[in-house]
Amino acid sequence: MIDSHVHLDADQYADPSGAIKRALEAGVVAMVAPGTGGTSNRCVLDLARRYPRVVYASCGYHPERFELNDADLEQALALIRAERGLLCAVGEVGMPWYGERAREPERLASAARNLARFARTAVEADLPMIIHAPHDSAREALGVLREAEVRRAVFHWHKSDDATTRAILEAGYFISLTPEVAYRDRDKRLAKMVPLGRMLLETDGPWPHGGPFENRPTEPAMIVETVEAVASTLNVRRELVGAVTTINSRMLFRIPP
Ligand SMILES: [Zn+2]
Repeated sequence: MIDSHVHLDADQYADPSGAIKRALEAGVVAMVAPGTGGTSNRCVLDLARRYPRVVYASCGYHPERFELNDADLEQALALIRAERGLLCAVGEVGMPWYGERAREPERLASAARNLARFARTAVEADLPMIIHAPHDSAREALGVLREAEVRRAVFHWHKSDDATTRAILEAGYFISLTPEVAYRDRDKRLAKMVPLGRMLLETDGPWPHGGPFENRPTEPAMIVETVEAVASTLNVRRELVGAVTTINSRMLFRIPP
């Protein structure tokens, strides 16, 4: 199994070695750590060097991190070019949704411009993209990716209307589900809508989850229970869900077996 999205550079993983060890023991063989901009990008690159063939790094510029500035934007783009050999993707990048001012037209216009630059850079570097675009912003991000002729991408922790979900799948992109699929109807519904061959799994740790995960620190090992939740939702064997979602991550991020 692979955790396709876990912020191992976060303060909650001050020493990620324990979480990585528990993941490996549980059968989670690799994890993708997406940088969010600024020092986060350098931190995930260091983790990829420290844990070769286990931690895979990606550099990005998180669209909800409004404290980032133009220098951070240029740093992220330059790092993607300079460290291309160590990277498995471009991201986390995307469109803002959550902040109080996230949906202001000016912010949206600049976010779309930034995303387009990352999309062009990803195409040039032949790297897939990890997209943060919740709810209606998924449609906006999809438009930018199509325009830039991005071939490989995942819409992480996807949540939007059915028409947009179908358009993302038609464009050939992947969609990833979190541990929420174990306890939230919205995500169970999404699990039934996304073909297994297009599904990725992620914890988005250290984000805290509810239901059976309540009061537990989010770790990559939780992918095991996420696989089980998808399997019971689809009424198929968990070995099948584990194998297919792992192959999907390997193909998208070019993670060797
Ligand atoms: Zn994230």
